[in-house]
Amino acid sequence: LQGSGEALRRTLFRRPLVAGDVISTSTQSRAAPDPRIPPELRPYLEGPTYGLQEIRLVVVSTQPRGIVYVAEGTEIELRPLFEEPKDGRRADVTYDDIGGLGDTVDQIREMVELPLRYPELFQRLGIDPPKGVLLHGPPGTGKTRLARAVANETEARFFHIAGPEIMGSRYGESEQRLREVFQEAAQNAPSIIFIDEIDSIAPKREQVTGEVERRIVAQLLTLMDGLEPRQNIVVIGATNRRDAIDEALRRPGRFDREIIIGVPDQPGRREILGIHTRGMPLAEDVDLDAVARTTYGFVGADLGALVREAAMDAVRRILPEVNLREGIPAEVLEELSVRRDDFLSALKRIQPSALREIMIQVPDVTWDDVGGL
Ligand code: ADP
Repeated sequence: LQGSGEALRRTLFRRPLVAGDVISTSTQSRAAPDPRIPPELRPYLEGPTYGLQEIRLVVVSTQPRGIVYVAEGTEIELRPLFEEPKDGRRADVTYDDIGGLGDTVDQIREMVELPLRYPELFQRLGIDPPKGVLLHGPPGTGKTRLARAVANETEARFFHIAGPEIMGSRYGESEQRLREVFQEAAQNAPSIIFIDEIDSIAPKREQVTGEVERRIVAQLLTLMDGLEPRQNIVVIGATNRRDAIDEALRRPGRFDREIIIGVPDQPGRREILGIHTRGMPLAEDVDLDAVARTTYGFVGADLGALVREAAMDAVRRILPEVNLREGIPAEVLEELSVRRDDFLSALKRIQPSALREIMIQVPDVTWDDVGGL
């Protein structure tokens, strides 16, 4: 079951849902479903299993699109655990599509691209290239995009494992899938295996309550230990909770390299805004430097959302002028551009998501920037 997580979060929880949360709810009659049950869950209650007095829903994943709930004891096929670029070998993101990461891009190129591209360099020098690299940083800072870009630019095959989703599988299936991915990666090397939210599959053992996590960690360790340098595979793990990861995974020969992906500073935000407005007609009164100044705390994902929202405001502005049934006249299209006002109204709605997750360091705004728009 997929629903808008926000509604449920607001009605039932005071904190964001995380994978593994169990929601208990009950229903009395078909005619009058319990008002506390969010509408998006109601179709389930009126489905074939109607008649349950109580259902328990387990949050399987909060990524990447909304929240996925599964009623306990039901068998529901989830989306594929592993995603590959549709056009075969290449994902389409390049280093130019990533802003504000400065020399982080060089770091990851050195750690991942170099060994995958020129394994002979490392052989000649007798050193082992890294098997595992951990990307650490708040959500929406570009970790996934960076991993994709490296794969693309290296012409490596990209395998994406969504941490929380793998947890929802039936007994033994998660380990089986992990083995399959490593196998396929080996057959199609050079390959990059990207494990998103790795903290959800490899939490610290003392925190582990579930048997599943223990088995998956063990499997992952075995697979990583079994990787030979000549196999040309790099595993990239992403997390925003580095300290929640099983230490065994961070030992030498496993995820022993670490790259911190921080919240972008003002020049970084300006760069990201430039990327997201590429090809977008901007009115002359738009000052992206000013937008970058006023968006302290925004990460790449927030800035992307801001730009999209501003563009949608531009669309909303012209809608009253056109009769959609007759199509949009060419001159209206031609004149359509995103204005300063569109950014201003978008700024009122788009909040920096990361501010909830990070500790605020020294702000890079000054009083001069207040009202900078
Ligand atoms: P993470 O993996 O760190 O949670 P993603 O790479 O999935 O973040 O980023 C989500 C989206 O946000 C990207 O597809 C992109 O549109 C935007 N984004 C995030 N970081 C950046 C960045 N540094 N530069 C440009 N766009 C970014």
